[in-house]
Amino acid sequence: MQLTAQFLLSAVSAAQFPARGAPEIAFLGRSNVGKSSLLNSLVGEKAAKVSSTPGRTRAINFFALLDGKQRRKLVFADLPGYGYAKISKSISATWPAFIEPYLAERETLALCVCLVDANVPPRPNDRQLLDWLRSAGREFVVVATKADRLSGNERTRNLAALKRELELDEILPVSAKTGYGVRELWRRIEEAGTRDAGTS
Ligand code: GDP
Repeated sequence: MQLTAQFLLSAVSAAQFPARGAPEIAFLGRSNVGKSSLLNSLVGEKAAKVSSTPGRTRAINFFALLDGKQRRKLVFADLPGYGYAKISKSISATWPAFIEPYLAERETLALCVCLVDANVPPRPNDRQLLDWLRSAGREFVVVATKADRLSGNERTRNLAALKRELELDEILPVSAKTGYGVRELWRRIEEAGTRDAGTS
């Protein structure tokens, strides 16, 4: 399906979330993990630019994905990157307060795409985020970014380590630079969106 992205709004409180409609896909990861670049390869430069604009990096940026007849098929929610430093009881002390309620309560949220860097060991807040999503009963897929930086052997080794440390059955390697894995990620996103639409 050919979809085009249209920026909807930047929300800095729950009151500003768009009206619930099409299934939503949330994108999460630490700052610098490659989230803007991946969004760029999924839906085009416009979305990535909006999300990295100063002032919008602390907001949830919502994008509608429209089909050829301008119908809203999916909504992408680009969440602020979580910080490196302080860990608290929440997923990240550096996250604004409305993020966790979004993840916990948003009825139309169909899938969380969680990004970790394929080149570095997972950080405690990556682990914390996944544990939190598990306890909240949220469906998620973990994507290992910047996979192009690794040789075949290194990639296999790093992915195995990430799977073990994050207790995952699978992890999806991607590269925004080469496009590796992007088609498979799209397939997963569409599957989640379709399943959600079918049951509601
Ligand atoms: P964000 O803060 O998570 O939005 O991260 P960005 O998308 O801005 O990327 C952070 C840095 O990683 C930038 O220097 C990018 O050029 C680099 N980067 C992002 N994706 C890739 C990738 O797939 N391959 C490589 N080699 N570098 C990447």
